Amino acid sequence: MAELRLERLSKAFADQTVVRDINLTIPQGAFTALLGPSGCGKTTTLRILAGLETLSEGRLWLGDRLLADKTLHTPPEQRDMGMVFQSYALWPHMTVAENVGYPLKLRNVNGAARHKQVMDALEVVELGAYAARSPQELSGGQRQRVALARCLVAEPQVVLLDEPLANLDRHLRATMEQTFRDFHRRTGATFVYVTHDQAEAMALASHIAVMHQGELMQWGAPQALYQQPQNGWVARFIGKGSVLMLATPAGTQQLDGAQMHAGLAYAGADPRQPVLVRPEHVQVTSEGLSAEVESCIYQGERYLLDLRLRDGQTLSAFHHAPLQCKQAVAVSLTQGWRLETA
Ligand code: ADP
Ligand code: MG
Repeated sequence: MAELRLERLSKAFADQTVVRDINLTIPQGAFTALLGPSGCGKTTTLRILAGLETLSEGRLWLGDRLLADKTLHTPPEQRDMGMVFQSYALWPHMTVAENVGYPLKLRNVNGAARHKQVMDALEVVELGAYAARSPQELSGGQRQRVALARCLVAEPQVVLLDEPLANLDRHLRATMEQTFRDFHRRTGATFVYVTHDQAEAMALASHIAVMHQGELMQWGAPQALYQQPQNGWVARFIGKGSVLMLATPAGTQQLDGAQMHAGLAYAGADPRQPVLVRPEHVQVTSEGLSAEVESCIYQGERYLLDLRLRDGQTLSAFHHAPLQCKQAVAVSLTQGWRLETA
């Protein structure tokens, strides 16, 4: 067992660099998410880890074992990694049990030993009764659980998952998230889970790598990304947040309400800096900054407001009751975080 280390990893297709200079150490046994919008290079990164893609620059290590660099390429089957795809990638001509047993067959595990391991794995994903079925007879969620079981029997050190829930409906996704959590706990393997869905990443992962246009934007625990985003892009991508330009005291990372108000009210020539404000830190009050309601959206447990401040800057807020469009309100800000860049 060992940590997975990406060192200045880059990948170019023809002359287009799609993964750029990624440095990342994924601790052994962590449940890690690679999170970012479509096209940012998540799948390419995962395929480099798996050995399905070569790398253009940099190095990939599993503990002190060099898996790949510009000249070295360890084939996928020698990496001790398992992969689960969005499309399940089950063999249609094999039964569920044969699919799950395939990695064991490759290792020449045969007869009763193979049968037992396959059945144990199918029990874990609660599909013991489906061993003799064809994958085509199963639902999407069941197929994904077969793919998980196939990964489980091989007992890999690292499990790579590429948007495994993307083809499933919302209700099933919640159940499957629990399956992944159990699966991770049970195996103790290092998980690298690709998703474009920030809620899914926050719900599952202990560590999140946020990617944007092939680059690693930020790496940290979900709480750290939410509370201390390094730039406006991450702030907007992780949870809801508005970035205001304020004149704030230098050196302070976390700003209290008074500092926020002073910064907004300040009309001098000092450079203004980007400050993140979460909607839960904006209160509609009887006194405070003047603002106008631009929109009010019902979200069930609360309303989401878009507000325009008198100086033209906009921000989002949560409120317990509906407000009219164009309605004049007063807001107070209770907290904010200074960002390095807007
Ligand atoms: P994501 O998984 O985050 O949606 P991908 O890693 O699939 O992103 O793709 C990142 C970029 O690399 C995209 O612009 C995509 O078109 C490009 N790309 C991916 N695979 C190839 C390939 N085999 N050849 C050329 N370009 C590719
Ligand atoms: Mg992808």
